[in-house]
Amino acid sequence: MTDILEVRGLSYGHSEQRSVFQKAREGFQVRDFHLSLRAGDMHALIGESGAGKSTLARLLAGALKPAEGLILWRGRPLTSYSLRERARGIQLVMQDATEALHARRTVGEQLREVARVTRGLSPSQVRDMIPQRCLELHLDPLLLERFPHELSGGQRQRVNLLRALLCEPELLICDEPLSALDRLHQVELLEILQEWRQRTGGAIVLIAHDVNVVAQWSDAVSLLYQGRCLEQGPSKAVLQRPQHPYTRWLLSAQPRLYRPAWALARSELVSREERPGVVVYPSCPWVKRCALAEPACWGQESRLKRQDVDSSHQSACIRSEDLPWHVGS
Ligand code: SF4
Repeated sequence: MTDILEVRGLSYGHSEQRSVFQKAREGFQVRDFHLSLRAGDMHALIGESGAGKSTLARLLAGALKPAEGLILWRGRPLTSYSLRERARGIQLVMQDATEALHARRTVGEQLREVARVTRGLSPSQVRDMIPQRCLELHLDPLLLERFPHELSGGQRQRVNLLRALLCEPELLICDEPLSALDRLHQVELLEILQEWRQRTGGAIVLIAHDVNVVAQWSDAVSLLYQGRCLEQGPSKAVLQRPQHPYTRWLLSAQPRLYRPAWALARSELVSREERPGVVVYPSCPWVKRCALAEPACWGQESRLKRQDVDSSHQSACIRSEDLPWHVGS
């Protein structure tokens, strides 16, 4: 199957040059990001706040112009498509559902307008279709007559998602749809997304900060920190054999019944005090917090590197091979 989305060396922001004698200081919000996505794939972008996830979501949706790199949509640069073509192919579901919905228009008015404009349906077709689509997302059709502020946070989030799905996109980018929901509603939303991609063959980029929740539902994950991708690969491989100290630190936040072979205690993975100094590109961005850092981690390029010739599992840690339970060991 061919890739529908291919991202090569994507960067956003700028490097701050303080003087000609000093090295460029990292000023990029996203740096050198790569991704390949096929129809039906779910790829999770995971990281702490400030990792560049939302900026990346906007770049992939074509809402921001990259400083470097290329986004290919169905083999052609994304910029070569018209706004209308882009909106039909790629839909971005914003993190803040309250901001994304019009406060003074009822939910029904907003959804009917999207269906009419993007799919050219007649008013009677729209009237019949919208209540049915509400039920698919576990929304009571009576909510259509309400205003967004009369809905709960979870309901607003699903209305926002339904608005994007009405455009019948081939790629759905969901920016932190789970952050305001409790665990029960998180699972409900993940089941809706799973059902949608299986039924339509659509691809999903799902942005979240909890690797333990999302990785089990996605085919592949990228772990982001300060705008850089530190580990990427099939979710199963990353969950079972994480190859970057940052990933291991994120995964170790979850209580476990047994201690996996790769696990160090969470406190063993971060240094007691954050190291002083400015992290200058191309140092490892995790270097100030990494308990395993060595002098070579400062100032040395830490690009993603395949952990196994047969696998797409990649880590940007230059000491990956020294970590307990390295893929190749
Ligand atoms: S490259 Fe160095 S600082 Fe970065 S994660 Fe690996 S050991 Fe730690």
